[in-house]
Amino acid sequence: MEPVTIIGAGLAGSEAAWQLARRGIPVALHEMKPRKMTPAHHSEYFGELVCSNSLRSDQLENAVGLLKEELRRMGSLILACADGHAVEAGGALAVDRHAFARAVTGKIRSHPLITVAEGEVTQLPESGEVIVASGPLTSDALAGAIKEFFPESRYLNFFDAAAPLVTFESVDMENAFFASRYDRGTPDYINCPMTREEYDAFWTALCSAQEAEVHGFEDKHVFEGCMPVEVMARRGHDTLCYGPLKPRGLRDPRTGKEPYTVVQLRKDNAEGSIYNLVGFQTHLKWPEQKRVFSMIPALKNAEFVRYGVMHRNTYLDAPRLLDRYYRVRKAPRISFAGQITGVEGYVESTASGFLCAVELAHRLQGKPPVDFPQETAVGALALYISNESVADFQPMNINFGIIPPLDHRVKGKRNKNAELSQRALQALEGLGEI
Ligand SMILES: Cc1cc2nc3c(=O)[nH]c(=O)nc-3n(C[C@H](O)[C@H](O)[C@H](O)COP(=O)(O)OP(=O)(O)OC[C@H]3O[C@@H](n4cnc5c(N)ncnc54)[C@H](O)[C@@H]3O)c2cc1C
Repeated sequence: MEPVTIIGAGLAGSEAAWQLARRGIPVALHEMKPRKMTPAHHSEYFGELVCSNSLRSDQLENAVGLLKEELRRMGSLILACADGHAVEAGGALAVDRHAFARAVTGKIRSHPLITVAEGEVTQLPESGEVIVASGPLTSDALAGAIKEFFPESRYLNFFDAAAPLVTFESVDMENAFFASRYDRGTPDYINCPMTREEYDAFWTALCSAQEAEVHGFEDKHVFEGCMPVEVMARRGHDTLCYGPLKPRGLRDPRTGKEPYTVVQLRKDNAEGSIYNLVGFQTHLKWPEQKRVFSMIPALKNAEFVRYGVMHRNTYLDAPRLLDRYYRVRKAPRISFAGQITGVEGYVESTASGFLCAVELAHRLQGKPPVDFPQETAVGALALYISNESVADFQPMNINFGIIPPLDHRVKGKRNKNAELSQRALQALEGLGEI
C-alpha cells in the first residue's frame, strides 16, 4: 500500500500518523524541524508544546476534560504520553513538556510503519492520500501553496501569544505560597499575592509598557481565549482581577485572608525547577517583561528562562472548505488536521488528527466511515468546523455549547455537564470498536 503523506509532526500530525500505523497503514511523516524551525518551536522533538504545558481541565464537568477522556478511551498516542508524563496541576492535566515530547517522538520513530522524512514541504503533493498538519505557523512556502490551492477562499488569521517561564529557585517564597484554588486536590500552584497598592503600580506599568512590534497586529485581532495580559489590562483596572489574577478560593497563610490579587505559577517540568506564569501570555519587549513582571513581589528577583512571544496564527475558512472528516470537499484525498483547520488548542488539534486518520484508515480499508455523533466532543468539534451555516468563522475551543442539550432539566451547571459527558461516553461506547 502507498504510504499516506503527513505534513507536520506536531500534535495533530503525530496523532494521525500513530492512528494510521496502528491500523496497519504505512505513513511518510514529513517534519521540517530541526532543519527549519517555526518562530515558536525550539526543540527537535515531535509534539512540541509551544506555550503552556497544560492540556487544561481533566474533569468530566468540563468539555475539554470530556474530549480528553474520549481520546483516551480510543487509544490516543498524545493522551497516553501526556498521562505518562503528567505533573501535578490541581484538576488540570499538565505535563513535563520535554519528557512528553520525547515520549511522542520515541513512539513515532520506533513504529515500523512510520517513516520520518526530514525537511520542509513546500508544495501540496500532487497525488496520493495527504494529511496537512503543519500547524498555525505553517512555513511560508507551504502556506503560499495552500493559498493557491484554495483561490476561492479567504485565508484567516489571528494572533496567539505564549507566557514566560521562570526558575523555581528565583521565586521569593517568603512572598508566595503553595495552594490550589478552594484547596481542591493537592496544593500544586505557587501563588504570588499582591496588595491593592502593589497591584495598582503593576497595572499602571503594564498598561504603558512597550510592546514588541508584530506585523499586522492590532488588539482586535486577538483570540479572546489567549489574550495578551497587557491587552487585557488595558481593558480596565479590574479586568485582570476577575481574570488570571483573581484571588477567589486562595487564602494567604500569612494573613488568613484572600489577597487583593494573585498571580499563579504552574509547574512546567517534573522536577519542579521551572514554572510558568498562568495567563501571562504577552508580546511586551523582553526587557519590559522583566521590568514589569518583576514588580510582582514574589518575582522581584525572578530569572526568566523563556520570555513570552506572539505569532500570527493562520487557519482555513473550514466551514466552506472541509467536511465532517476534515477532508477537503473538492479534493477528498487531502485532509487537514490540527490548528490550521480552525480548531483551537492542544487537545482539539489532537482530536482532529485522530478523527481524520480514523476516517482515512476506514476508507483505505474499504470500511464505512465512523460518524462520531454530535453528542460526543470529538464529533461536535468536527461538525462545528464543517458547518456551512457558520458565517464568520473563528477559532473554536471545545465547549458544551456545540453539543446538543439534554432532553430533561438538571439542576446546577456541574451536574448538567457531568450528565452531558456521561451521555457522550455512552454514545462513544455505542460505536463499538473504532
Ligand atoms: C504562540 C502560540 C501559543 C499557543 N499556546 C497554546 C496554549 O498555551 N495552549 C493551547 O492549547 N494551544 C496553544 N496554541 C495553539 C495550538 O494548540 C498549538 O499551536 C498546537 O501545537 C497546534 O497543533 P498542530 O499539530 O496543529 O500544530 P503544531 O503543533 O504547530 O505542529 C505543526 C508541525 O508542522 C511543522 N511544519 C510546519 N510547516 C511545515 C512544512 N512546510 N513542512 C514540514 N513541516 C512543517 C512544524 O515544525 C510543527 O512541528 C498556541 C499557538 C501558538 C502559535
